[in-house]
Amino acid sequence: MADVIARNRDLLARLISQEVGKPLAQAEGEVAFAEGFLRYNAEWDRRLEGEILPGDAPDETIHLLRVPLGVVAAICPWNFPLAVLCRKLGPALVTGNTIVIKPSEISPLSTIAFVELVHQHLDLPPGVINLVTGDGAVGQMLVDDPLTSLVSFTGHRDTGKSVMARASANLTRVSLELGGKAPAIVWKDADLDVAVPAIVAARHTNCGQVCTAAERVLVHRDLLGPFTERYVAAARALKVGDPLEGSDLGPLVSAAQFAKTSAAVALARREGATVLTGGGRPEGAAFKAGYWFAPTVLGNVSPAMSVMIEETFGPVTPILGIDSIEQALEIANASRYGLSAYLFSRDYPTVMKTVNELEFGEIYINRTLGESIHAHHAGYKESGIGGEDGKWGLLRYTQVKTAYHRYGAS
Ligand code: NDP
Repeated sequence: MADVIARNRDLLARLISQEVGKPLAQAEGEVAFAEGFLRYNAEWDRRLEGEILPGDAPDETIHLLRVPLGVVAAICPWNFPLAVLCRKLGPALVTGNTIVIKPSEISPLSTIAFVELVHQHLDLPPGVINLVTGDGAVGQMLVDDPLTSLVSFTGHRDTGKSVMARASANLTRVSLELGGKAPAIVWKDADLDVAVPAIVAARHTNCGQVCTAAERVLVHRDLLGPFTERYVAAARALKVGDPLEGSDLGPLVSAAQFAKTSAAVALARREGATVLTGGGRPEGAAFKAGYWFAPTVLGNVSPAMSVMIEETFGPVTPILGIDSIEQALEIANASRYGLSAYLFSRDYPTVMKTVNELEFGEIYINRTLGESIHAHHAGYKESGIGGEDGKWGLLRYTQVKTAYHRYGAS
């Protein structure tokens, strides 16, 4: 399947770009990411291990076996349709499960093309990879079905809660990868040549519609002025335009995302934030129709503002000054989300304190996106339950069977 992706990179990348509005280069990156998930997980075919234990009786041995769960329902979001799918497909299949894929109605085309290509080029047994399209009601049917052994869901926090509640009817396992409100902490010794471009990228990739996006930036008061000046200049320099023509930002994915992002900025303004650049639709005839949103930077923000609490999922950066690392950690941890967090510092005690005290599933020091295929991607608190990628993610697609072997004559 990885080879099928490799042979069809351009086709898949263009489809993703067109259906999500993601710049083509980023869509190509997503296709490579998807391919990587399949190649990495294929390696596990010969590495899955059980255990053999001595039994309590002299003529007994105990085998702990890793066996598949059964049918995995893979319910995927619109923002990374192919990568999120392959993140689930690779470990599900290599551990012996079958899968039913439900892409988002907003971006089903790359998934449909991929599943068609796979069935066209590979001789898969019937029923191993299945695809159903449709909206949330179809996802709900998969969750409700007693044949489903695991719902591997990536999407919004509130949908995840509904999935978990409904899955409890059959005690179906859930793995939930939900939203985030990643803090990016810029400590007083940070190298701004590193921090500014990294945070700009982490906020504006896919027009801000990434679960690990830097959603709130906390800058040490000593650096607040220079950081903000450089960040605003970098945000202004980003090219908004046709995602197939080399832009940095395409449009937001839908009218709903445009309305949500606009409302977040309007509310921040009412709450007293200052718009330092952007603020809504970019100027110019090319942007009159469609869901274009200019990179927007907000100053004069406070931790109690909605834009510092709710997931914005658009190209909006609130920047807040902080005076101590304790204060930064308190603000960061006050969130109901706990997926990704970023710190820029080379001060060893500050780095260790931050790693130890942040309540987030993945913490990046002196860099931002993206996660590694062989690590572990998991949210704390309302960012999810379970976790994907690497060995620990893969094992969630298995269950343990214990066999007691009494081999003596008696
Ligand atoms: P949604 O929760 O709206 O949708 C996710 C998927 O669930 C879609 O396929 C959707 O179908 C389906 N769905 C909708 N309602 C139900 C239901 N009641 N039961 C079962 N399935 C349902 O999320 P978005 O697509 O809007 O994705 C954005 C969210 O995903 C953000 O919060 C983002 O942070 C998060 N996300 C998290 C990631 C992570 O790894 N932690 C990675 C990527 C995104 P349809 O769209 O057709 O209605």
